[in-house]
Amino acid sequence: MTNNKKFYTVMQYDVIVIGSGPGGYVAAIRCAQLGLKTACIEKYSTFGGTCLNVGCIPSKALLDSSEHYHNAAHTFKTHGINLENLQVDFGQMVKRKDEVVAQTTGGITFLFKKNKITSYQGVGSFVDKNTIKVTKADGSEETITTKNVIIATGSKPSSLPFLKVDKQRIITSTEALNLPEVPKHLVLIGGGVIGLELGSVYARLGAKVSVVEFMDAIIPTMDRSLSKELQKVLQKQGIEFYLGHKVTGATSDGNEVTVTFDSPKGDKMELKADYCMVAVGRVAYTDGLGLENIGITVEERGKKITVDEHLETSVKGVYAIGDVVRGAMLAHKAEDEGTFVAELIAGQKPHINYNLIPGVVYTWPEVASVGYTEEQLKEKGVKYKTGSFPFKASGRARASMDIDGFVKVLADQATDEILGVHMIGPRAADMIAEAVVAMEFRASAEDVTRMSHAHPTFTEAIREACLAATENRAIHI
Ligand SMILES: Cc1cc2nc3c(=O)[nH]c(=O)nc-3n(C[C@H](O)[C@H](O)[C@H](O)COP(=O)(O)OP(=O)(O)OC[C@H]3O[C@@H](n4cnc5c(N)ncnc54)[C@H](O)[C@@H]3O)c2cc1C
Repeated sequence: MTNNKKFYTVMQYDVIVIGSGPGGYVAAIRCAQLGLKTACIEKYSTFGGTCLNVGCIPSKALLDSSEHYHNAAHTFKTHGINLENLQVDFGQMVKRKDEVVAQTTGGITFLFKKNKITSYQGVGSFVDKNTIKVTKADGSEETITTKNVIIATGSKPSSLPFLKVDKQRIITSTEALNLPEVPKHLVLIGGGVIGLELGSVYARLGAKVSVVEFMDAIIPTMDRSLSKELQKVLQKQGIEFYLGHKVTGATSDGNEVTVTFDSPKGDKMELKADYCMVAVGRVAYTDGLGLENIGITVEERGKKITVDEHLETSVKGVYAIGDVVRGAMLAHKAEDEGTFVAELIAGQKPHINYNLIPGVVYTWPEVASVGYTEEQLKEKGVKYKTGSFPFKASGRARASMDIDGFVKVLADQATDEILGVHMIGPRAADMIAEAVVAMEFRASAEDVTRMSHAHPTFTEAIREACLAATENRAIHI
């Protein structure tokens, strides 16, 4: 007698997420909220990935501490507050940063328990598309099965092929968050977001900071007006820039680093410093995943996993999100993609508007941007109008002595729809949310001008820039 019954393997999980950064942990929580049986594998002993452990959170903790010191040293006197014997206790600053990280990563442990997500500590790798092996720190292995996999393994700092990062004197952002002392002279290779943020920390604490950047502008992907203004402000704060200069080497004798570079005219130059931070971007991380076991290949440049518009890889049921796939390497982009894939697996029809993912630089003043830059609009041949408002004309900014910077609004010439908002100024990182909301609802510049903005607030500058864009009728300039 033949048995015609089909046998199905019972999968332990509906979804296994590999990696617990902002992409992975948000994906896991959203999957669990949607009733999917979910596990998350993390190779490190704490959850939260780059962002919580060695990225967004610790850098912002040090940025805040150094900003307090900088204000105490430079602006308190004008506010009528006199301090004597002001000193930096750098050890305490780093300790507080570590406490913030511990609280934040601990929060993810709590959220996983609350949402009944099973966590595995170890390196996750594919045996086949439904079977994941977890290799733990002690070498033991466990195999788990699943219907779907979300790869959220993030990224790691990249370097230049001829540079040896010794992690002592020639460092990446990870070591820059844990230095034993404030450098006397820090050379930054790269004038992008991560370098400038950490460079600001040490410049505020008294280090000489020199930036050597290959491009002719810092933060080169943002609107050029922002990079020009940020450079001006950072120069006032004492940071020196070598733009258009090409680094050719960096060597350390254990105490001193020599960075060599060519000027735009080809002159050979060098800087000597006690630390050199290589901040030339990040590269997708897929080591040890065993992608070859299921036939997934990575792009030659950037090592990113190729995905379709649903963030699905070439293998059905295997998705990838966050820094490991195309697009901006930002925590909130990773989070949005985590939610997107979870909802997709649960049968919903989610949506991400990649054009409206804001970008922020947490220097002071802060820089924030959403939508098209002026350069992009010119390239696309879109007819647009501009409205700007400087913070020096804002009562709120004068009250807090934060008068550097401006808000710039780009709106469609014919329809007045807001196409891009670019700002540098106090609390720009928080203010950009207003622009994102307005643009998600496809507001016109005039729509924003007709909405009440509390006075006095920094956000009035957005309304004024919209007024300037609408009919050149800003009130306060
Ligand atoms: C100094 C610095 C400051 C930053 N500041 C900001 C900021 O202010 N705002 C912002 O939006 N972004 C910021 N970023 C970028 C942000 O941290 C990343 O975009 C974000 O962390 C990407 O999230 P992810 O989930 O894709 O990956 P990650 O956060 O990199 O997480 C990936 C996780 O996967 C784990 N993993 C990898 N392989 C395996 C495996 N095989 N098995 C198990 N686990 C594995 C890793 O250990 C890691 O925990 C900053 C980055 C740095 C370095």
